[in-house]
Amino acid sequence: MRDTSKSLYVRATQVIPGGVNSPARAFGAVGGNPLFFDRGEGSRITDADGNSYIDYVCSWGPLILGHSNPRIVEALKRVIESGTSFGAPTRVEIELADLVCEMVPSIEMVRMVSSGTEATMSAVRLARGHTGRTKVMKFEGCWHGHADSFLIQAGSSALTTGAPDSPGVTDGTASDTVTAPFNDLETVEKVVQENKDELAAIIVEPIAGNMGVIPPSPGFLQGLRQMTSDLGIVLIFDEVISGFRVAPGGAQELYGVTPDMTTLGKIIGGGLPVGAFGGKKEIMSDISPLGKKVSQAGTLSGNPLAMTAGVEMLRALREPGVYDQLEASAAKLAAGWEANIASTGLGYTINRVGSMMTMFCTQEEVTNFEAACGADQDAFSRYFWGMLEGGVYVAPSVFEAAFVSTVHSGADIEQTIEAHGKALAKV
Ligand SMILES: *Cc1c(COP(=O)(O)O)cnc(C)c1O
Repeated sequence: MRDTSKSLYVRATQVIPGGVNSPARAFGAVGGNPLFFDRGEGSRITDADGNSYIDYVCSWGPLILGHSNPRIVEALKRVIESGTSFGAPTRVEIELADLVCEMVPSIEMVRMVSSGTEATMSAVRLARGHTGRTKVMKFEGCWHGHADSFLIQAGSSALTTGAPDSPGVTDGTASDTVTAPFNDLETVEKVVQENKDELAAIIVEPIAGNMGVIPPSPGFLQGLRQMTSDLGIVLIFDEVISGFRVAPGGAQELYGVTPDMTTLGKIIGGGLPVGAFGGKKEIMSDISPLGKKVSQAGTLSGNPLAMTAGVEMLRALREPGVYDQLEASAAKLAAGWEANIASTGLGYTINRVGSMMTMFCTQEEVTNFEAACGADQDAFSRYFWGMLEGGVYVAPSVFEAAFVSTVHSGADIEQTIEAHGKALAKV
């Protein structure tokens, strides 16, 4: 029974466009109406009708410790009594900044904001201000939030709403963004050469997560690093998903490639609204009130509740064994899915990096956006509803990742594999 969700959805659509405050939540790609949720505890979420599901959306990535992590909840209870916002500096901002700079050594200085969108938008403005150049390169299918300059060949909800180039983005803005296919260094080289005196930055998800999970091909990130170093272009790794997800130091640690700037979000907020951008001191020293005074500001930036949640999150992730456990759980899940795929003969492709993975309903290898678009949407939709019937909540779109958390138990993984097998049998 999902009647309560349905009636809440009908009510929501009267006052909230589409009934959702972010289009990725709408069930546009799978049909039906979104579920409304009342509770999250550990690996499980409970909807408004009282149905319980094992959750692999995990708020689209932030909840790497699962829902209502006791350590984060306790810390929030402690600080909430001391005031929720000052609009002035607090100690906890330094604590989180110290942790970020220690865990991600390429970040020498960092500024906190309230969302991933703000982080990428500000990072690109800073790169432009710092270099005095205009253009930005991004990759087809990569999502960097909803600032105008990124809504060109963007991933995630822009894909499922069928509007990759959004109305409202001016031709002028669009013409300052150039694109290339992910994992295609040859095309990158060509586009970079054509625009080399104008390119301020190349921004990339080092592990694509918003066209489904697509790892970088061997040499891709190294190639970007080489080209940008040679030409004085700022290399920005958008690690809003991969940061603290695939290793304590993110994808840059995993692949051993050091960007000039990094954008963070999702996990860094411990489930509260936080984003951050940082990098070389030389570049960060051009942000207002310093250097060239590149503009950036935020009434609630560095909010004490959000910073506290972030500090507890990162401290928990620094404890020994966390990433080994995540890898073991995710590997077990992927192996179970692979076995199900083999026994049904569907030949579907699974891409996985650590605790982020996507099953693409296609037999082709998926290394870029074009290949991701070749996946069977109808089959995915039937699969999605089958998983729900089996008590498992995965993202309602093929262009998303499943996130494994530290609290997905062995029993959760087994139930998920069983549900997956049954769902596949019906696609
Ligand atoms: C989610 C995401 C963003 C945007 O973050 P918001 O907090 O939703 O604004 C930017 N970049 C990447 C890679 C993301 O996954």
